[in-house]
Amino acid sequence: MGQHWFKNSVVYGIDVKAFCDSNGDGIGDLPGLISKLPYLQELGINCVWLQPFYPSPLRDNGYDVSDYIAVHPALGTLDDFERLIQRAHASGIRVLIDLVANHTSDQHPWFQEARRDPSSPYRDYYIWAEEPPPNTDHHVVFPGVETSTWEYDEVAGAYYWHYFYRFQPGLNHQNEQVRAEFRRVIGFWLDLGVDGFRLDATALLISAKATPDPLAHLDHTILREMSDFVRACNEEAILLAEADAPPDRLDEFFGEESRMNLLFNFLLSANLFLALATEDSTPLDQVIAVLPAPPATGQWLNFLRNHDELNLDRLDPVDRERVFAAFAPDQQMQIYDRGIRRRFGSMLDGDPQRIMLALSLLFSLPGTPLLMFGDEIGMGENLTLPEREALRTPMQWDRSMNGGFSSAPRDQLYRPVIDQGPFGYHAVNVSDQRRDQDSLWHQIRRLIAQRKQLLTFGDGTWHIVRCDRGAVFTHECDCDEDRVIAVHNLGDQAQTVHLELGGASWIDVWCDQAYPPPDSESVVIGAYGYRWLQRVASS
Ligand code: MG
Repeated sequence: MGQHWFKNSVVYGIDVKAFCDSNGDGIGDLPGLISKLPYLQELGINCVWLQPFYPSPLRDNGYDVSDYIAVHPALGTLDDFERLIQRAHASGIRVLIDLVANHTSDQHPWFQEARRDPSSPYRDYYIWAEEPPPNTDHHVVFPGVETSTWEYDEVAGAYYWHYFYRFQPGLNHQNEQVRAEFRRVIGFWLDLGVDGFRLDATALLISAKATPDPLAHLDHTILREMSDFVRACNEEAILLAEADAPPDRLDEFFGEESRMNLLFNFLLSANLFLALATEDSTPLDQVIAVLPAPPATGQWLNFLRNHDELNLDRLDPVDRERVFAAFAPDQQMQIYDRGIRRRFGSMLDGDPQRIMLALSLLFSLPGTPLLMFGDEIGMGENLTLPEREALRTPMQWDRSMNGGFSSAPRDQLYRPVIDQGPFGYHAVNVSDQRRDQDSLWHQIRRLIAQRKQLLTFGDGTWHIVRCDRGAVFTHECDCDEDRVIAVHNLGDQAQTVHLELGGASWIDVWCDQAYPPPDSESVVIGAYGYRWLQRVASS
């Protein structure tokens, strides 16, 4: 597959704890995930992103790591992990793992040493102050939950800096020893065969922590050292950056400053939902105009939803309210005054036509598409769970007890399965959908297969094709002699779109219904319809 294998992958995000429980203890585990590799292969997934599976108090879904080079005992062993890598690779599936380098758990031995002994070398792994500076509420990541970025530690007799929860002290990457620690961590997992890392909270990691304007100065040398080290160990291994930065600063992460391979496309996600909410393609035109073009070594990671809230912070307030009104009208569906804590299946009312429209668009836009586990069957959320836990409920495999996720008694599950309503496991599960060729699962399986064949979307150049219908978004991708035009109708009315297709022949390689062949000047597109047209090479 070569160095740029990630450009034509379909990535699937997995919370191991919520995927499949092999031993009936109520928590998903690595052997459970291994047992589902044939399922992922059948779906067409060729890259998985594993969320943190490390030892952790699990107060932030594992993003509070207490040991970077081990497996949480409830999830398995390092032997299980090695077996997972071997089996995944044998199945043609690459494995990315989460690297949570911005902060540790407060239970990590580094922090425990640091707080106990001011002269310990670990003290300077973190950022301390005798007195917190003013405006300590600035830059908290979870407004409404946390009120300050400084927390007093009685053992240390000082305050420590944290962006996230108070139990996640921020690491000081200006300390060369901290950077050396993470080189050891990276080397450890690359030796076990991982194909790369998702770098959690990348922009915050390199920010000037504990200064009045930490995001004004990003120290990209930290990332460049890390990426150079990754590539020195394995030239095909990649870094996927979670960098939610303003559009004019995104190319810093792609370029020579940082050398990241994949960037989560947060701006696209927010604007895609705005376009879906308003049934107007203008937000897509606008966001695509401001996104920097990735270099040859880089690519966008496009997603509708990831494992966090749908962050609408970068939309203006009026647009944000439009998205709330369409997809999260109840206050309890919203979170942190900026986002939505729902999955896209439920946001789109489980309507397969609109779900497939959104995914068809996502898969055709320049970049590598990401699905989260359960998206392929249109899972919903459980709003009685706190914060982002709502959308992290266990995978719904079948109609048996606990949706086939675990044989543990219901009250011993790590997190409850959705068992009621239109998104409960009796109504939404893998087993039923696999038996129905028209199900969402099969449509997505076919979409994945088609995307992997059309390398033009991953490798080619592309541009927006202006058309005269505001609800219709049309773009063209070209690679060598291959040309593909994708037409997506965000609106509820069928449209005839005027397009200059020249004298060439075009065929539908992916579409929502049988369409008449396009003539040289126009293309018909149904309500919430989608068509990928490929030019037939003249011989
Ligand atoms: Mg288990």
